[in-house]
Amino acid sequence: MFESLQERLQEAFKRLRGKGKLTESDVTEALREVRLALLEADVNFKVVKSFIARVKERAVGQEVLETLNPAQMVIKIVYEELVTLMGGANVGLTMADRPPTIIMLCGLQGAGKTTHAAKLALRLKKEGKKPLLVAADVYRPAAIKQLQVLGEQVGVPVYAEGDQVSPVDIAQRAFDYAAQERRDVIIVDTAGRLTIDEELMEELRQIKERLKPHDTLLVIDAMIGQDAVTTAEHFHGKLGIDGVILTKLDGDTRGGAALSVREVTGRPIKFVGVGEKLDALEPFHPDRMASRILG
Ligand code: GDP
Repeated sequence: MFESLQERLQEAFKRLRGKGKLTESDVTEALREVRLALLEADVNFKVVKSFIARVKERAVGQEVLETLNPAQMVIKIVYEELVTLMGGANVGLTMADRPPTIIMLCGLQGAGKTTHAAKLALRLKKEGKKPLLVAADVYRPAAIKQLQVLGEQVGVPVYAEGDQVSPVDIAQRAFDYAAQERRDVIIVDTAGRLTIDEELMEELRQIKERLKPHDTLLVIDAMIGQDAVTTAEHFHGKLGIDGVILTKLDGDTRGGAALSVREVTGRPIKFVGVGEKLDALEPFHPDRMASRILG
């Protein structure tokens, strides 16, 4: 991921570094390259526009151009603005003051919801919590079975009632069950569709209304590029999300979604999925990601 973005940025900065003293037009020229590199990496165009404007505003002033090493300053500004663009600091899960904490996962089919429900459960279990997985995807054939298999692999119980019951009722009873069994985190795997559809949104809204999750997390596939941002915008508008899990960052993605989601939705990427294995889940750190991008 980010290889070609990294290469192009390094190229742009190399030219700046070679110059010693910089003029405003040198900076403008370099930022034009940065802009193209970001667009090519599938960063949302509105995000690119405002990002470049922010960097430019800080980078062309006399105090930057007249420093001893202006190129280094410009790169530093790009780095800082990248960190800010991705949300500044890592944002963890919102935990309930009084357990159980309720986490609701939503997203399009194939994004990695079920896998990430299990990954989160494993992570929480390792932190000493007692999670409960809830199978509320009653539409996709085998979704319940898939969650049960994954639950077994990570050693976390799965609450299921089959596929003939309304997901809202399942979610409600899972909550009662969790209280009774003293499980302290409930992770609800909801249904997805291939595309965004009003009926699904209505169902998710009802589950959300009933459960009042502490964290409603949207699972999105980084491989779908610009569509990841559209999906995020849509789910946030219709349902209201608290954060994002960006999956498949281990794949051949140009990485644009990682840079766009926060700015477009105002919601942080909390975790990234970096593989099919159940421990392939990492907290998202904007500063580390920015360092990686700048190489
Ligand atoms: P759901 O329909 O949203 O529940 O998606 P699934 O959890 O069934 O995942 C769809 C496919 O993506 C499965 O084959 C997963 O193994 C795969 N997958 C999920 N997360 C990742 C990830 O972070 N990296 C990779 N490479 N594959 C993933």
